[in-house]
Amino acid sequence: PRRRVLLLAGGQSEEHEVSLSSARSVLAALPQDRFEVTAVVISKQGRWLPPAETAQALGAGAAESGGEPMLQRVSDTAGYDVVFPLLHGPMGEDGTVQGLLTLAGLPFVGSGVLGSSVGMDKIMTKRVLEAAGIPQVAWREASRAEWRRDPQGVQSRAAELGFPLFVKPANMGSSVGVSRVTGAGELAEALELAFGHDRRVIVEAAAGAKPREVEVGILGNDDPVASPVGELRFDTDFYDYDTKYTGGRAEMLIPAPLPEGVSERIQELALRAYQALDCAGLSRVDFFYVEETGELLLNEINTMPGFTTTSMYPSLLQAHGLSYPELVTRLIELALEER
Ligand code: ADP
Ligand code: MG
Ligand code: MG
Repeated sequence: PRRRVLLLAGGQSEEHEVSLSSARSVLAALPQDRFEVTAVVISKQGRWLPPAETAQALGAGAAESGGEPMLQRVSDTAGYDVVFPLLHGPMGEDGTVQGLLTLAGLPFVGSGVLGSSVGMDKIMTKRVLEAAGIPQVAWREASRAEWRRDPQGVQSRAAELGFPLFVKPANMGSSVGVSRVTGAGELAEALELAFGHDRRVIVEAAAGAKPREVEVGILGNDDPVASPVGELRFDTDFYDYDTKYTGGRAEMLIPAPLPEGVSERIQELALRAYQALDCAGLSRVDFFYVEETGELLLNEINTMPGFTTTSMYPSLLQAHGLSYPELVTRLIELALEER
């Protein structure tokens, strides 16, 4: 019998559109002889769209509004064997939807509540990986309450890291709210921007002058495997939103041309991070490679990485020997595995 799959896409985060592109690719790829797929697009307001509106939103690339309150629709999920929550960012990749599905008794693709929430939060990720002995850049944190109360204090603590530095919302993706700050005069604006997206902000020392950005795909539950390592090349100062999503701005190299032994070390660190964070199913783990010093620093883990047919994660797994349809099938099998 065909497995009934519920594909959730869109969602309330600023990565709504990115999620819909990923969902279109998955819908086109799921083998029809094995899966009966229903998509539900979640609007930017968090409501679940019925089938006709879902189809329309998938075509249009966004759903600003419409749909019904999620709690009224959640009983409909009872008819599915497995859910693919193809949602990026807060209210989707951060354990909230994973908690809902866990309570509903539905198996789902990807990490559970713990791995999703810790992996989404750049501050908590740093803490856990620090404890696991994984190399990272120096960092500071601040809360919005602190920022309102003592902006000078927050800025001088950030400036201890030296310039350039990076200011980021703790919970976000696609470089939304991320700034590269080259001097003290730009700090306040960067912090204000980041606090506009999140109650908690992380400030990071830059990983060298211009680090190489290398990424690895992890697939599996208790015995995860690492893909070959890929690299992103682009001309901008850092990998910002436009560079990520404007065609032709960034180049993907798979495998990454790295000196002897570096890829193996990336794979090993990524697998350790994946397990330290209690991830499952899949993740893309991103690193900085500082060529001048040979330093390897873990930047972040993405528990639901971009998933169009040309995205980095599926391309990495392709290099590992899994075609896009095979990868999606494997992810659903992993979701149904006893854990
Ligand atoms: P997101 O989760 O939004 O992708 P990242 O933490 O990956 O956020 O930051 C986005 C981009 O900003 C990175 O891909 C990189 O180009 C740049 N960047 C972020 N942090 C640093 C850092 N500490 N040193 C150098 N570059 C950084
Ligand atoms: Mg990210
Ligand atoms: Mg990133």
